[in-house]
Amino acid sequence: MNIDLHCHSNVSDGALAPTQVARRAARAGVTVWSLTDHDQVDGLAEARAAALAAGMQFVDGVEISVTWRGSTVHVLGLRIDPQDATLAAGLAAVRGGRIERARAMARELSAAGIEGTFEGALERAENPAMVSRTHFARFLVDIEAVADMRDAFRRFLVPGKPGYVPHQWADLDDAVRWIRAASGHAVLAHPGRYGLSAGAMDALLGEFRQAGGEAIEVVTGSHSPEQYRHFGALAAHHDFAASRGSDFHGPEEGAEFGSLPPLDAALRPVWRDWGL
Ligand code: AMP
Ligand code: MN
Ligand code: MN
Ligand code: MN
Repeated sequence: MNIDLHCHSNVSDGALAPTQVARRAARAGVTVWSLTDHDQVDGLAEARAAALAAGMQFVDGVEISVTWRGSTVHVLGLRIDPQDATLAAGLAAVRGGRIERARAMARELSAAGIEGTFEGALERAENPAMVSRTHFARFLVDIEAVADMRDAFRRFLVPGKPGYVPHQWADLDDAVRWIRAASGHAVLAHPGRYGLSAGAMDALLGEFRQAGGEAIEVVTGSHSPEQYRHFGALAAHHDFAASRGSDFHGPEEGAEFGSLPPLDAALRPVWRDWGL
Protein backbone atom coordinates (compact mmCIF):
# COMPACT_ATOMS: atom_id res chain seq x y z
CA MET A 1 0.00 0.00 0.00
CA ASN A 2 1.19 3.48 -0.85
CA ILE A 3 -0.70 5.78 1.49
CA ASP A 4 -0.81 9.56 1.08
CA LEU A 5 -3.04 11.37 3.56
CA HIS A 6 -2.29 15.04 2.93
CA CYS A 7 -2.70 17.26 -0.13
CA HIS A 8 -4.63 20.20 -1.57
CA SER A 9 -6.88 21.05 -4.49
CA ASN A 10 -8.06 24.41 -5.82
CA VAL A 11 -10.91 24.24 -3.33
CA SER A 12 -8.25 25.76 -1.02
CA ASP A 13 -4.72 26.69 -2.10
CA GLY A 14 -3.84 23.85 -4.45
CA ALA A 15 -3.32 24.53 -8.15
CA LEU A 16 -5.45 21.67 -9.55
CA ALA A 17 -9.10 20.61 -9.31
CA PRO A 18 -9.87 17.60 -7.07
CA THR A 19 -10.25 15.23 -10.05
CA GLN A 20 -6.88 16.24 -11.47
CA VAL A 21 -5.22 15.80 -8.07
CA ALA A 22 -6.77 12.32 -7.76
CA ARG A 23 -5.48 11.27 -11.19
CA ARG A 24 -2.03 12.60 -10.41
CA ALA A 25 -1.91 10.68 -7.14
CA ALA A 26 -3.04 7.46 -8.82
CA ARG A 27 -0.48 7.87 -11.63
CA ALA A 28 2.26 8.25 -9.03
CA GLY A 29 1.24 4.91 -7.49
CA VAL A 30 -0.81 6.07 -4.50
CA THR A 31 -3.32 3.40 -3.46
CA VAL A 32 -4.95 5.04 -0.42
CA TRP A 33 -5.47 8.75 -0.81
CA SER A 34 -6.93 11.65 1.16
CA LEU A 35 -7.69 15.18 0.03
CA THR A 36 -7.16 17.57 2.95
CA ASP A 37 -8.01 21.08 1.83
CA HIS A 38 -7.54 23.92 4.28
CA ASP A 39 -10.67 24.59 6.35
CA GLN A 40 -12.90 23.24 3.55
CA VAL A 41 -14.64 19.96 2.72
CA ASP A 42 -16.26 21.08 -0.54
CA GLY A 43 -13.87 19.10 -2.74
CA LEU A 44 -14.41 15.73 -1.08
CA ALA A 45 -17.36 14.42 -3.09
CA GLU A 46 -15.57 15.07 -6.39
CA ALA A 47 -12.31 13.71 -4.98
CA ARG A 48 -13.95 10.51 -3.77
CA ALA A 49 -15.57 9.81 -7.13
CA ALA A 50 -12.31 10.46 -8.98
CA ALA A 51 -10.31 8.37 -6.51
CA LEU A 52 -12.58 5.36 -6.87
CA ALA A 53 -12.61 5.73 -10.67
CA ALA A 54 -8.80 5.70 -10.59
CA GLY A 55 -8.74 2.56 -8.41
CA MET A 56 -7.67 4.18 -5.12
CA GLN A 57 -9.26 3.91 -1.70
CA PHE A 58 -10.39 7.33 -0.49
CA VAL A 59 -10.22 8.91 2.97
CA ASP A 60 -12.25 12.07 3.66
CA GLY A 61 -9.95 14.72 5.10
CA VAL A 62 -9.46 18.36 6.04
CA GLU A 63 -6.58 20.49 7.35
CA ILE A 64 -7.65 22.98 10.01
CA SER A 65 -5.73 26.21 10.64
CA VAL A 66 -5.08 26.73 14.36
CA THR A 67 -3.52 29.50 16.42
CA TRP A 68 -1.58 28.04 19.34
CA ARG A 69 0.31 30.40 21.67
CA GLY A 70 0.58 32.91 18.86
CA SER A 71 1.92 30.42 16.28
CA THR A 72 -0.05 28.98 13.37
CA VAL A 73 -0.19 25.19 13.47
CA HIS A 74 -2.20 22.84 11.26
CA VAL A 75 -4.32 19.88 12.37
CA LEU A 76 -5.46 17.24 9.90
CA GLY A 77 -8.82 15.57 10.38
CA LEU A 78 -8.87 12.16 8.70
CA ARG A 79 -11.86 9.86 8.07
CA ILE A 80 -14.16 12.70 9.00
CA ASP A 81 -17.84 12.75 8.18
CA PRO A 82 -17.93 15.74 5.80
CA GLN A 83 -21.66 16.22 6.52
CA ASP A 84 -21.21 16.68 10.26
CA ALA A 85 -22.86 19.92 11.39
CA THR A 86 -20.43 20.69 14.23
CA LEU A 87 -17.46 20.36 11.90
CA ALA A 88 -19.18 22.39 9.17
CA ALA A 89 -19.97 25.24 11.56
CA GLY A 90 -16.45 25.25 12.96
CA LEU A 91 -14.84 25.31 9.51
CA ALA A 92 -17.16 28.11 8.38
CA ALA A 93 -15.98 30.19 11.34
CA VAL A 94 -12.28 29.54 10.61
CA ARG A 95 -12.72 30.48 6.94
CA GLY A 96 -13.99 33.96 7.80
CA GLY A 97 -11.79 37.00 7.45
CA ARG A 98 -9.49 35.84 4.62
CA ILE A 99 -10.60 38.63 2.26
CA GLU A 100 -9.97 41.36 4.85
CA ARG A 101 -6.62 39.83 5.68
CA ALA A 102 -5.73 39.73 1.98
CA ARG A 103 -6.54 43.44 1.68
CA ALA A 104 -4.27 44.19 4.64
CA MET A 105 -1.48 42.05 3.11
CA ALA A 106 -1.84 43.93 -0.18
CA ARG A 107 -1.60 47.30 1.60
CA GLU A 108 1.65 46.21 3.22
CA LEU A 109 3.07 44.85 -0.03
CA SER A 110 2.10 48.10 -1.75
CA ALA A 111 3.97 50.05 0.93
CA ALA A 112 6.93 47.78 0.15
CA GLY A 113 6.64 48.77 -3.53
CA ILE A 114 4.64 45.89 -5.02
CA GLU A 115 1.28 46.90 -6.47
CA GLY A 116 -1.74 44.89 -7.54
CA THR A 117 -1.29 41.95 -5.21
CA PHE A 118 -4.90 41.86 -3.91
CA GLU A 119 -6.31 41.54 -7.43
CA GLY A 120 -3.47 39.22 -8.43
CA ALA A 121 -4.06 36.87 -5.52
CA LEU A 122 -7.84 36.89 -5.97
CA GLU A 123 -7.53 36.06 -9.67
CA ARG A 124 -5.57 32.97 -8.69
CA ALA A 125 -8.06 31.79 -6.06
CA GLU A 126 -10.81 29.52 -7.40
CA ASN A 127 -12.89 30.55 -4.38
CA PRO A 128 -12.18 34.17 -3.30
CA ALA A 129 -13.19 33.42 0.30
CA MET A 130 -10.25 30.96 0.47
CA VAL A 131 -7.61 33.43 -0.75
CA SER A 132 -4.36 32.49 0.95
CA ARG A 133 -0.69 33.37 1.16
CA THR A 134 -0.12 30.71 -1.51
CA HIS A 135 -2.14 32.75 -4.03
CA PHE A 136 -0.07 35.84 -3.19
CA ALA A 137 3.09 33.78 -3.65
CA ARG A 138 1.94 32.53 -7.10
CA PHE A 139 1.25 36.13 -8.16
CA LEU A 140 4.67 37.31 -6.92
CA VAL A 141 6.29 34.51 -8.94
CA ASP A 142 4.25 35.38 -12.05
CA ILE A 143 5.26 39.07 -11.99
CA GLU A 144 8.87 38.02 -11.32
CA ALA A 145 9.06 39.94 -8.07
CA VAL A 146 10.57 36.74 -6.61
CA ALA A 147 12.45 33.76 -8.04
CA ASP A 148 10.04 31.05 -6.81
CA MET A 149 7.42 30.21 -4.18
CA ARG A 150 10.04 29.60 -1.53
CA ASP A 151 11.55 32.99 -2.17
CA ALA A 152 8.09 34.62 -2.02
CA PHE A 153 7.50 33.24 1.46
CA ARG A 154 11.01 33.89 2.70
CA ARG A 155 11.04 37.52 1.58
CA PHE A 156 7.44 38.62 1.97
CA LEU A 157 4.94 36.24 3.52
CA VAL A 158 6.27 35.00 6.85
CA PRO A 159 6.26 36.69 10.29
CA GLY A 160 8.55 39.73 10.32
CA LYS A 161 8.24 40.32 6.56
CA PRO A 162 6.24 43.12 4.89
CA GLY A 163 3.41 40.98 3.47
CA TYR A 164 2.68 39.03 6.65
CA VAL A 165 -0.52 39.89 8.49
CA PRO A 166 -1.23 37.84 11.62
CA HIS A 167 -4.59 36.12 11.73
CA GLN A 168 -6.57 34.43 14.48
CA TRP A 169 -7.42 30.87 13.43
CA ALA A 170 -9.20 28.16 15.46
CA ASP A 171 -8.25 27.20 19.03
CA LEU A 172 -6.43 23.86 19.22
CA ASP A 173 -9.11 22.37 21.48
CA ASP A 174 -11.91 23.44 19.17
CA ALA A 175 -10.25 22.07 16.02
CA VAL A 176 -9.73 18.65 17.61
CA ARG A 177 -13.24 18.70 19.07
CA TRP A 178 -14.81 19.37 15.64
CA ILE A 179 -12.79 16.55 14.07
CA ARG A 180 -13.87 14.15 16.79
CA ALA A 181 -17.49 15.29 16.53
CA ALA A 182 -17.26 14.25 12.87
CA SER A 183 -15.83 10.83 13.97
CA GLY A 184 -12.43 11.71 12.53
CA HIS A 185 -8.86 11.23 13.71
CA ALA A 186 -6.85 14.36 14.58
CA VAL A 187 -3.26 14.43 13.30
CA LEU A 188 -0.76 17.22 14.01
CA ALA A 189 0.47 18.22 10.53
CA HIS A 190 4.17 18.78 9.68
CA PRO A 191 5.41 19.52 13.23
CA GLY A 192 8.87 20.30 11.87
CA ARG A 193 7.58 23.48 10.24
CA TYR A 194 6.68 25.36 13.39
CA GLY A 195 10.14 26.29 14.58
CA LEU A 196 9.20 25.38 18.16
CA SER A 197 11.78 24.72 20.88
CA ALA A 198 11.83 21.20 22.35
CA GLY A 199 9.97 22.51 25.39
CA ALA A 200 7.28 24.23 23.34
CA MET A 201 6.86 21.10 21.16
CA ASP A 202 6.36 19.02 24.32
CA ALA A 203 3.74 21.49 25.51
CA LEU A 204 1.98 21.43 22.13
CA LEU A 205 1.96 17.62 22.07
CA GLY A 206 0.66 17.53 25.64
CA GLU A 207 -2.22 19.86 24.85
CA PHE A 208 -2.92 18.05 21.59
CA ARG A 209 -3.12 14.71 23.41
CA GLN A 210 -5.32 16.25 26.13
CA ALA A 211 -7.68 17.56 23.45
CA GLY A 212 -7.96 14.11 21.85
CA GLY A 213 -5.24 14.25 19.19
CA GLU A 214 -4.13 10.78 18.06
CA ALA A 215 -1.22 11.10 15.66
CA ILE A 216 1.55 13.27 14.32
CA GLU A 217 2.67 13.54 10.73
CA VAL A 218 6.14 12.05 10.49
CA VAL A 219 6.85 11.57 6.77
CA THR A 220 5.71 14.64 4.85
CA GLY A 221 6.93 16.85 2.04
CA SER A 222 8.40 19.61 4.19
CA HIS A 223 10.32 17.28 6.55
CA SER A 224 13.95 16.31 6.02
CA PRO A 225 15.09 12.68 6.54
CA GLU A 226 16.52 13.86 9.86
CA GLN A 227 13.04 15.12 10.79
CA TYR A 228 11.46 11.78 9.80
CA ARG A 229 13.70 10.23 12.45
CA HIS A 230 13.18 12.99 15.00
CA PHE A 231 9.39 13.12 14.81
CA GLY A 232 9.16 9.34 14.49
CA ALA A 233 11.03 9.06 17.77
CA LEU A 234 8.83 11.76 19.31
CA ALA A 235 5.67 9.94 18.18
CA ALA A 236 6.93 6.68 19.68
CA HIS A 237 8.05 8.39 22.89
CA HIS A 238 4.68 10.13 23.41
CA ASP A 239 2.71 7.10 22.16
CA PHE A 240 1.16 8.92 19.22
CA ALA A 241 0.36 7.14 15.99
CA ALA A 242 2.24 8.34 12.90
CA SER A 243 1.01 9.60 9.54
CA ARG A 244 2.38 10.09 6.06
CA GLY A 245 1.37 12.58 3.37
CA SER A 246 3.05 14.61 0.65
CA ASP A 247 1.24 17.94 1.24
CA PHE A 248 1.14 18.27 -2.56
CA HIS A 249 -0.13 21.70 -3.70
CA GLY A 250 0.67 21.74 -7.39
CA PRO A 251 3.12 20.71 -10.11
CA GLU A 252 6.55 22.18 -9.51
CA GLU A 253 5.54 23.57 -6.13
CA GLY A 254 7.58 21.30 -3.92
CA ALA A 255 6.32 17.95 -2.67
CA GLU A 256 5.08 15.44 -5.25
CA PHE A 257 3.03 12.27 -4.85
CA GLY A 258 4.97 9.04 -4.75
CA SER A 259 8.29 10.54 -3.73
CA LEU A 260 8.24 9.98 0.03
CA PRO A 261 9.72 7.00 1.88
CA PRO A 262 7.37 4.72 3.85
CA LEU A 263 6.84 5.16 7.58
CA ASP A 264 9.40 3.34 9.70
CA ALA A 265 7.99 -0.14 10.40
CA ALA A 266 8.46 0.36 14.15
CA LEU A 267 5.87 3.17 14.19
CA ARG A 268 2.14 2.66 14.67
CA PRO A 269 0.45 4.05 11.55
CA VAL A 270 -2.68 6.14 12.11
CA TRP A 271 -4.46 3.86 9.59
CA ARG A 272 -3.63 0.61 11.46
CA ASP A 273 -7.21 -0.13 12.50
CA TRP A 274 -8.95 1.21 9.41
CA GLY A 275 -9.30 -2.16 7.70
CA LEU A 276 -7.52 -0.99 4.54
P1 AMP B 1 -2.49 30.85 4.82
O1 AMP B 1 -3.45 29.79 5.30
O2 AMP B 1 -3.13 31.86 3.92
O3 AMP B 1 -1.72 31.48 5.94
O4 AMP B 1 -1.44 30.12 3.87
C1 AMP B 1 -0.70 29.06 4.37
C2 AMP B 1 -0.17 28.23 3.22
O5 AMP B 1 0.99 28.82 2.70
C3 AMP B 1 0.27 26.86 3.69
O6 AMP B 1 -0.81 25.98 3.69
C4 AMP B 1 1.28 26.49 2.63
O7 AMP B 1 0.62 25.94 1.51
C5 AMP B 1 1.87 27.81 2.24
N1 AMP B 1 3.17 28.05 2.86
C6 AMP B 1 3.42 28.49 4.10
N2 AMP B 1 4.75 28.65 4.31
C7 AMP B 1 5.34 28.29 3.14
C8 AMP B 1 6.70 28.25 2.67
N3 AMP B 1 7.71 28.61 3.46
N4 AMP B 1 6.91 27.83 1.41
C9 AMP B 1 5.89 27.47 0.60
N5 AMP B 1 4.60 27.50 0.97
C10 AMP B 1 4.33 27.90 2.22
MN1 MN C 1 -1.44 25.18 1.80
MN1 MN D 1 -0.19 22.77 6.49
MN1 MN E 1 -1.29 21.04 3.80
